Amino acid sequence: MITVTKTFLPPIEEYNKQVQRAWDNQWLTNRGELVLELEEKLKQYLKVSNIIITTNGTIPLQIALKLLGNGGEIITTPFSYVATTAAIVWENCTPVFVDIHPEYLTLDENKIEAAITDKTTAILATHVFGNPCQVEAIEAIAKKHNLKVIYDAAHCFGVTYKDKSIFDYGDVSTCSFHATKLFHTGEGGAMFTKDAALQHQLFYSHNFGHKTVLDFHGLGINGKISELQAAMGLAVFPYIETIVEERKKIVNFYNALLDFSRLDKIKIRENTEWNYSYYPVLLKNEATLLDIQARLLSENIIPRRYFNPSLNNLPYCKNVKMPISENISERVLCLPLYVGLKTEDLDKICKIINAK
Ligand SMILES: *Cc1c(COP(=O)(O)O)cnc(C)c1O
Repeated sequence: MITVTKTFLPPIEEYNKQVQRAWDNQWLTNRGELVLELEEKLKQYLKVSNIIITTNGTIPLQIALKLLGNGGEIITTPFSYVATTAAIVWENCTPVFVDIHPEYLTLDENKIEAAITDKTTAILATHVFGNPCQVEAIEAIAKKHNLKVIYDAAHCFGVTYKDKSIFDYGDVSTCSFHATKLFHTGEGGAMFTKDAALQHQLFYSHNFGHKTVLDFHGLGINGKISELQAAMGLAVFPYIETIVEERKKIVNFYNALLDFSRLDKIKIRENTEWNYSYYPVLLKNEATLLDIQARLLSENIIPRRYFNPSLNNLPYCKNVKMPISENISERVLCLPLYVGLKTEDLDKICKIINAK
């Protein structure tokens, strides 16, 4: 069976070696030696000034929205994973959808201003498939209207834009280290900010608000990552360059073999060093997609319809029309992309998709 992705697993001896450290320390969570070491390694690799690693990639969205959303209207993208919208609703804010750009698939910066009201507090945009939003335009709009900017950068491990980590943009950026993501800790995530005061708030928020054992800075929740999750991260980390290189080869293979007279790929934003995190293709229409999907399934190849449905159609959101996102959601298919995917399988996938 060939699936859309496959978790990268390091040799188990290397994982065991890291887990053994937790045993030796008799220390399983609360920012032990493994978590601190992983944060240091990631900070250097990603070239960011700060990182707080968390137990998943959703809790940092919630913490950021709790601190910056203020129960208001959040301008957001309908084309993302459900966590983006769910976090807004969960934090008692109101998602206000703005349609996406038809080629970049990120929030259309030209449509943001029309959606701003006196209740708008923040913009939560996703760098979907690791493709950066138009961050300069979004920053200018936010400044003009005194709004906060949160980026769901769950797909962006290692992405740079204009030679800076994409995590450096926005008031807060978040990432996911879920097992299906490029770099993973089984379950895990991270949040980033360059603002020292906000960093302090994010930090205590993810640890129950603690100042000392008996004293509190403010409201908090448990967003901490455990030593056992960090052990996986430390075991995967030495392979990160190999992972990116292997994925790049597969992306180049698809680029060379697929018939682009019959489908489109997404446009990666200029000045981006991309991470090859997904291989979405845009088919002519949903009928073509269903046909291709069925033919792949009959060969035990399982692509995924990332992202469908368009999030404006979630049952707990006010129904609004988002024509571009809905149209893209009907015809976008993410093709298998993972370390270890064989050339003969790639050949087969391309033949099935190219066949009439
Ligand atoms: C994976 C993902 C999340 C959630 O991350 P978890 O680590 O699974 O909680 C949020 N947003 C997007 C866009 C994602 O793909």
